[in-house]
Amino acid sequence: MHMFSREKIFSAGTASSGANVPIGTGLAFADRYRNNGAVCLTYFGDGAANQGQVFESFNMAELWKLPVVYVIENNQYAMGTSLVRSTAEVHLYKRGASHNIPGEAVDGMDVEAVHAAGVKAVAGRAKVTVRSSWK
Ligand SMILES: [Mg+2]
Repeated sequence: MHMFSREKIFSAGTASSGANVPIGTGLAFADRYRNNGAVCLTYFGDGAANQGQVFESFNMAELWKLPVVYVIENNQYAMGTSLVRSTAEVHLYKRGASHNIPGEAVDGMDVEAVHAAGVKAVAGRAKVTVRSSWK
């Protein structure tokens, strides 16, 4: 959670679950502003997926076409609370749908499937059209 490397372009998480989502979205905003071609991968868990700041980040990310890919690691439990006891829609890959952010469920135990999905998602965000006002 607290690893960080400027050299590796790796930003740490935060002690507060889900707080890294607006930070990752902000880093994607910086990448867009700098027009550096980078895509920010932002990871969070199934518990954080219910936080309001996540929805605000999704809205800004799609509104501004930011180069960010959100990865929800769903292990079925947020600390000690079962996903089905805390979440109305348990298919978390649908979470971005109301913001026009496509989602895909991938078996996290299949490393090749995760890699393929990651490559596809990054390619999709990297090809996002930049609004002329951002240049
Ligand atoms: Mg979890």
